[in-house]
Amino acid sequence: MHRIAIVGAGQAGLPLAFGLLDKGYEVTVVSDRTPDQIRGGKVLSSQCMFGSALQIESDLGIDDWHDLCPPVDGISFSLQSPDPGGGPLIDWKARLDRPARSVDQRIKMAQWLVKLEARGARVLIQKAGVADLEALADTHDLVIVSAGKGDVAQLFERDASRSTFDAPQRVLSLTYVHGLKEADDYSRISFNVIPSVGEYFVIPALTLSGPCHIMFFEGIPQGPFDIWREALTPGDHLDAAKRLLRTWLPREADRAKRVELTDAHGILAGAFAPVVRKPVLQLPSGRPVFGLGDAIAINDPISGQGSSSATHACKVYLDAILAHGDAPFTRDWMEQTFEQYWTYAEAVTQWTNSLLMPPPQYRLKLLDAAVRSPAIASAIVNGFDHPPSFFPWWSDAEACERFIADRQDSVSNAPASRDLQRDGMNQRFATP
Ligand SMILES: Cc1cc2nc3c(=O)[nH]c(=O)nc-3n(C[C@H](O)[C@H](O)[C@H](O)COP(=O)(O)OP(=O)(O)OC[C@H]3O[C@@H](n4cnc5c(N)ncnc54)[C@H](O)[C@@H]3O)c2cc1C
Repeated sequence: MHRIAIVGAGQAGLPLAFGLLDKGYEVTVVSDRTPDQIRGGKVLSSQCMFGSALQIESDLGIDDWHDLCPPVDGISFSLQSPDPGGGPLIDWKARLDRPARSVDQRIKMAQWLVKLEARGARVLIQKAGVADLEALADTHDLVIVSAGKGDVAQLFERDASRSTFDAPQRVLSLTYVHGLKEADDYSRISFNVIPSVGEYFVIPALTLSGPCHIMFFEGIPQGPFDIWREALTPGDHLDAAKRLLRTWLPREADRAKRVELTDAHGILAGAFAPVVRKPVLQLPSGRPVFGLGDAIAINDPISGQGSSSATHACKVYLDAILAHGDAPFTRDWMEQTFEQYWTYAEAVTQWTNSLLMPPPQYRLKLLDAAVRSPAIASAIVNGFDHPPSFFPWWSDAEACERFIADRQDSVSNAPASRDLQRDGMNQRFATP
């Protein structure tokens, strides 16, 4: 029987632990927080997961919140005028083929840890460092590091050929609230873009006190959404969020008139640089350990892919471990397994990075064409569940033109939102 250690009790590591336990593996999970500390701690994510990742959880029998968590049935997209109060220039929405869901990780990871221990996993509460990895490698056949943004993950070497940025591209802010007005007709993520300012999302979710909404700002550094350092208390944070909406997004401000914080820990502000690392870390003893999830490929949350990607990575690793049988887990095997995951993750990274940069004119045309073409709007929205489907048309001007032309059938007579070319809209995405 194989013994496998997983360092980091998050969205990547814990489903893998369940999958291995089910197949009779001996599993050790190392968490730097107890379940009570996780539940009582700060929110760390908006964690919205799309259909195919939720299916992986369901197949593992760990989708415990399906009936409690409000489904997200679609996504609306709005490109706002960069002039305060200028209103939307592009506005459309489409349904997801399968609902998405966001379960507060404080609920999920705490409950999963308890459940894993009850099923026979050994749970160690400690902040693992190199000496601990060595000790685990001594007593286990494979050590997996799924420690997210933890220090230990930063020991894995940055892969310069796969990392586009070396500094944060957005300043992030989360505010979990009750009392936000539901979207009309169906539940959805609101995705608002304001050129040269940033993005604002509303995400229906489940938190400790029941269904809620997450107000999620992504601000271009030093721009008008980069204000969170001045918010010293959770109340200040909420007030700042409402103020930004009143100035930049009056329609969203109207929905948020009566919001209250879900709890004093329902806020977060910070920034990090997206990075891809080499998947294998060689310990001083020469033994290799294998990275998983955000520890190896961390994207800006602008595309809402981190939790889904962590789950897809977990599935690739689980299948590869099971298929490997009794053979030793070598560095080559780790690198090949990661490459298998990268066939999916490369598209996630490329698409996510594209959202952080000013869009080329052809992509603005695509986003505008979606106003009149339900087929185009649907392809973009459902791409969130499978980012490889965005290519080549998302990143190649000719393929994009063809993609739009092929969907003319479904184009309605609605007028073009605005002559975006004439407005030089793409010039207005420049960094402030
Ligand atoms: C503001 C924000 C919004 C987001 N919104 C979304 C979204 O809407 N949709 C989405 O899919 N993704 C979103 N994400 C990303 C998503 O949360 C992550 O990609 C996902 O949680 C990654 O899972 P993971 O298991 O790799 O890492 P993590 O969830 O970070 O888990 C790692 C765990 O390891 C623990 N740990 C760290 N160091 C050690 C150590 N030395 N020893 C033991 N344990 C350790 C940590 O405490 C943590 O519990 C968002 C992220 C942010 C910051």
